[in-house]
Amino acid sequence: MPVSAEPRAVVVGGGIAGLAAAASLLRAGWHTRVIEQASSFSEVGAGLGVTANDQRALDAIGADGALEREGQRIRPAGTQFMDGSWLMKLPYHAAGTTRMYGMHRQRLHTALLDAAAEAELSTGMRVVRIDPGGTDQQAVVLVDTANGQQRVPADLVVGAGHCPRCRTGHRGIRDELGSACRVRCSASGSR
Ligand SMILES: Cc1cc2nc3c(=O)[nH]c(=O)nc-3n(C[C@H](O)[C@H](O)[C@H](O)COP(=O)(O)OP(=O)(O)OC[C@H]3O[C@@H](n4cnc5c(N)ncnc54)[C@H](O)[C@@H]3O)c2cc1C
Repeated sequence: MPVSAEPRAVVVGGGIAGLAAAASLLRAGWHTRVIEQASSFSEVGAGLGVTANDQRALDAIGADGALEREGQRIRPAGTQFMDGSWLMKLPYHAAGTTRMYGMHRQRLHTALLDAAAEAELSTGMRVVRIDPGGTDQQAVVLVDTANGQQRVPADLVVGAGHCPRCRTGHRGIRDELGSACRVRCSASGSR
């Protein structure tokens, strides 16, 4: 697939994975558009553990400040039985690989939305099909909008809306988007 003079990336899905991908692409010089089917960018759920790898990734996109401001340093980490005894305990190293923060998902999502603020952020638009293109042809993302369908050309498509082949594919991109995964699938837990 060719990459045009001003490379354009389309990220399908504006969850944690999609916004993190968008923030990274922006910093790498890509014109980036995030297409989200919901009417607004939002997140559900409770807290999540932000591991040392995650912290490096947040650092790389300039979103690591949110951890100190809004996260909670976890120490020690591990798994306890109901009676408080330890099944498994991770050794604590302040600067090591087991350093972990707990953070509310909405706050992480907001921090990533800030980091991706320079992207073209589109809501209320559902990606229904992706033509992955070829060696001399851009990919085309077909999007359902309130005003009909749009065709969005792209040099790179990042599928971050969960797809059938992803281990965590419980919702989001359906069968017709299988080609998105061949282009690139960034959904957490994807294979
Ligand atoms: C109720 C619930 C609670 C959870 N709690 C936790 C937790 O506490 N900790 C934890 O680590 N994990 C939790 N998870 C797992 C959770 O799925 C992941 O942690 C995380 O949200 C995955 O982020 P994501 O960006 O990959 O996917 P998502 O958050 O699912 O984001 C995908 C986005 O893509 C959009 N999308 C999908 N298809 C299309 C399309 N065709 N066109 C346009 N947009 C599309 C969706 O609307 C969505 O906004 C929970 C899951 C659920 C359902």
